[in-house]
Amino acid sequence: MPEGPEIRRAADRIAAALVDRTATDIFFAFEHLQPFREILVGATVTAIETRGKALLTRFDKPYSIYSHNQLYGVWYVRAPGTLPDTKRQLRLAIHNRNKSALLYSASDIEVLHDSELPYHPFLSRIGPDALDSKVTPEEIAERLTEKAFMRRRLAGLLLDQGFVSGLGNYLRSEILFVSRLHPQQRPIDLSDTDRDRLARAILDVTRQSYATGGITNDPAIAASLKAEGWKRWQYRHWVFSRAGEPCFVCGTRIEKSAIAGRRAYICPKCQPLR
Ligand SMILES: [Zn+2]
Repeated sequence: MPEGPEIRRAADRIAAALVDRTATDIFFAFEHLQPFREILVGATVTAIETRGKALLTRFDKPYSIYSHNQLYGVWYVRAPGTLPDTKRQLRLAIHNRNKSALLYSASDIEVLHDSELPYHPFLSRIGPDALDSKVTPEEIAERLTEKAFMRRRLAGLLLDQGFVSGLGNYLRSEILFVSRLHPQQRPIDLSDTDRDRLARAILDVTRQSYATGGITNDPAIAASLKAEGWKRWQYRHWVFSRAGEPCFVCGTRIEKSAIAGRRAYICPKCQPLR
């Protein structure tokens, strides 16, 4: 599943095609959404917002199209009247005079009135979005001390969209490495300094990944390895997907494990279980 930074970059592409333009036509594959076509055709798209891994297409009317790609959904932007070469099923299309934004395969699509947004089952329970620039490390550090989260193992907590939204599997391993923490530790076991470092890494690593198109390694290390001819998977991350390769900090071999069925990577020397 794409993680917050990838969703946000997709949202940026859709925004470039749709924002400030009038929807000349809208297609909904799902029958129950058909009545909204009449309401939204002729309205102007005002923003494409991300809420964790969900996307909101906002209009200059009190309605938004909510979509969550889950595992399979994928957006394409095309010139009007052209379709991508795919066997996937078209589920939503928003057209204007210059572009068409097309969502394939996603099944989680709704149209919500502004008054419904705060009560939506997904939107109402997600935690602060790591890519929201208003969210601070202090807020995340505070969250780590809350009853609901402090006794959870970091491995599970970091994937819980109710804790912080937008994190996924590669970010989990990378954030823990940057924080020098072991996945089996819990917030309650950490010192204030460790918790602050973790809170900062949650935001910094995610935001760097968005800004760089997925690089979570030190950008300087990544750039010099790339210049030396290393492949993207070899320089992109500190530890994720690098089982058996040497740690960029200490040279120890990176280890892979499965945590709750999802792969995780650590440097056993930089991230000892304390
Ligand atoms: Zn190391």
